[in-house]
Amino acid sequence: MENFSEEREELNKIKEQAEDCEAEPVASPGAIQPHGALLVLSQKNFDILQLSNNVAQMLGREVEDLLDQSISQLLGEEQTQLIRKKVVAERERNVDPYLRSLPHTPVNITVNGEDKVFDAIVHRSDQGFYLMELEPRDLYDDYPLEGPHQLTKSAILQMQQAHQMSNLYNIVVSEVARLIGFDRVMVYKFDTDYHGQVVAEYLREGTFDVSYMGINFPNTDIPANARQLYTKNWLRLIPNREYEAVDIVPFRKWQQDDPLDLTLSVLRSVSPYHIEYLEIMGVSATMSISLFEGDRLWGLIACHSQQKRYIPYTLRMACEFIGQSLSLMLAQRQDRKLEKKLKLLDVITRKVSANLVAGYGLSEAFMSQQKDILALMRAQGFAIVDHIKTYMGSVPPEPQLQALCSWLDTQIEDRRKGIYFTYQLSREYEAAREIEEISSGILAIPIEHPTPGYLIWFRQPAEKTIDWAGKPEKREVRDERGIRYSPRRSFATWKEKLKGRSEHWTSAEIQVAEEFRTRLYELQSSLYRHMEQENKLLEKKIKERTEELSVANEMLRQAIKRKEISEEELLQSLTSLKTANEDLERFAYVTSHDLREPLRTISNFSQLLTNKYSSQLDEKGIKYIEFILEGTQRMQTLIEDLLRYSRVQKKGNVAKEVSMDNVVRETVKFMDLMLAESDGRVEVSTPLPSVKADRSLLMQLLQNLLANAIKYRHPDRPPRISVGAEDDDGNFYRFWVKDNGIGIAEENQHSIFDMFVRLFASDEYEGTGIGLAICQRIVHKFGGVIYVESELDKGSVFYFTLPKSD
Ligand code: ADP
Repeated sequence: MENFSEEREELNKIKEQAEDCEAEPVASPGAIQPHGALLVLSQKNFDILQLSNNVAQMLGREVEDLLDQSISQLLGEEQTQLIRKKVVAERERNVDPYLRSLPHTPVNITVNGEDKVFDAIVHRSDQGFYLMELEPRDLYDDYPLEGPHQLTKSAILQMQQAHQMSNLYNIVVSEVARLIGFDRVMVYKFDTDYHGQVVAEYLREGTFDVSYMGINFPNTDIPANARQLYTKNWLRLIPNREYEAVDIVPFRKWQQDDPLDLTLSVLRSVSPYHIEYLEIMGVSATMSISLFEGDRLWGLIACHSQQKRYIPYTLRMACEFIGQSLSLMLAQRQDRKLEKKLKLLDVITRKVSANLVAGYGLSEAFMSQQKDILALMRAQGFAIVDHIKTYMGSVPPEPQLQALCSWLDTQIEDRRKGIYFTYQLSREYEAAREIEEISSGILAIPIEHPTPGYLIWFRQPAEKTIDWAGKPEKREVRDERGIRYSPRRSFATWKEKLKGRSEHWTSAEIQVAEEFRTRLYELQSSLYRHMEQENKLLEKKIKERTEELSVANEMLRQAIKRKEISEEELLQSLTSLKTANEDLERFAYVTSHDLREPLRTISNFSQLLTNKYSSQLDEKGIKYIEFILEGTQRMQTLIEDLLRYSRVQKKGNVAKEVSMDNVVRETVKFMDLMLAESDGRVEVSTPLPSVKADRSLLMQLLQNLLANAIKYRHPDRPPRISVGAEDDDGNFYRFWVKDNGIGIAEENQHSIFDMFVRLFASDEYEGTGIGLAICQRIVHKFGGVIYVESELDKGSVFYFTLPKSD
């Protein structure tokens, strides 16, 4: 069928047909099949409220004789009590409200003078009545003496030994066929849409000429209301298709709104649609047993007989037992399948979560597991459609995917519970035709966190041809129930090439998909928890760092400011120092060349004045001339000193090795006269080391210091001076010149090295206040320092350091 819209129309017809069929009151037909009698009993006293209108033939009693009577009228007190006891006990066991587990009871009833054995099958209806169905044992030629358990022993043993499912199904069909002697016994399996396929078939030779093995039956063959009934009533029997239904009488008023519920009745009359269906198939008697996989109706054991054939209750129970055993095994297999998938999901989850811990994003972590995620669901594509969007394998393009999600929104009512799956998307959603090659089948689960979206697995079309039992067709029938559609006329195999249909989603896959969603939420929430913690930690760290940084910044800012200021200050003082130096040097130059000459003139002429005109001058005049001479003398000294000071910078720019022994000895010799005058003595701790400096500057240094030691001697004692040296640190020697003079007050010990600083008036001690400034300049020139330690009245020690010569 190539044309899609034609196919679609066909499908709609089948749907209509199915709906028509689904309207059938399958559970409450108000009639039974004639191979037994039905009594509706009151809950309280087991009074007969209604009964099937065949009690005369079946039980040899008139309806009127039994109606509103106690059942004991029919069964006698003893048998009634026996059944009542069983019912009470079963109700107390409280296993099943319908008492489906209640064992049947053989009862004796005298029918028209003849003792007959019946199977009394009792259950409780939804409406609260007890329904007793009586099937005469003489309907069956050799009623089995064994109970259902003995009858199925061999079947169960073989089933337990089966390793493969196909093997198991084959055992089931042949064992059921052996028990009930039907011509065809099939295991019929529903897919997710309840289309059925025959997966095992026993076919008695010389009976039906067509095998249904592998053939598919559309879901319309067993409509939803019938399937619903099959989930409650596990075994149905129609011994003779051509039966005449027996009404249940009398019609009671309450039935108007609530017709008698025959869901669990074993005699229940079946839908004419079903009878017609059997007729077309050439089936006279049929029995079917429900098979479950967990709660879900998995399929049927369907039995067909070409001849009418009654199966007694014991045998039916044996078959039901086989069906239940198969159901248990199916559930087990299902559990194993699910378990396997859940294990794989565990592995995936662990790996994803390990990736998350390793710092990958959720999407990346999932992508790393794409092979397993696709294998898990036997899918070719998978998408997590949320704000991030994770696509793996073959997934429809973005716009189509978005459109699909919007369409899914309209399909899923309760997003928290909802799940949507189909193996033929384009049938449900026309726009999917253009993405059929990628997404014939989809399984979609809504996700809510962090934003509403979907998990969608995509399956590509499965290329296969399906063998249907008959071509779907519409047949309008007008009968006593109005216009309806009858089943197709032929069950001859109709081949359909599957287009745009994928493999079905199994219930294990559906469960795993839901579990996947749960895992996703767990991973997300653990990720967010982790991220939140990390974030908090990070925030804290950032805050701390920011605070530290701002403190450091402030400090830096201040430091820079200070540095800027001090640099500026330094620069300023350097400049001013330079200027001052230059001024001084210029001044020294000026004084040495320009001032010395007029000064000499003043001094010479003052001298002449004294020599030539002292007789003409009075005493005062002579004194004034002496003052002039003294002044010029002092001025000359000052000029000499200034010159010396300024020359320090110019002289000895190349430092050489100088022996301090020599320098000190020569200086002391040079000062001989001064020492002799003051009765002074100099002691030198020889040998003094050699230094790297300029010899004449060092002599000037020593000369100044020794001169001061003599000049500032104590009035009470002659000067005793000692000169020595010691190692200062790795590169310098420290020299000292120690005297026993008047000492220097502590507050003056710094300033004495400044220019022109003198502690005494010039009439007390002669001097210019330049000597120590020259000393400092010399020491600094060679990288050393000079300082004094002194005590008033006791003496002073002048220390200075000079670089070692080596
Ligand atoms: P001056 O030409 O006045 O000696 P200096 O620069 O040589 O100038 O000395 C500065 C001042 O330091 C002196 O005026 C004196 O007061 C004090 N001074 C220097 N050497 C000594 C010393 N050995 N003992 C005491 N005072 C001293």
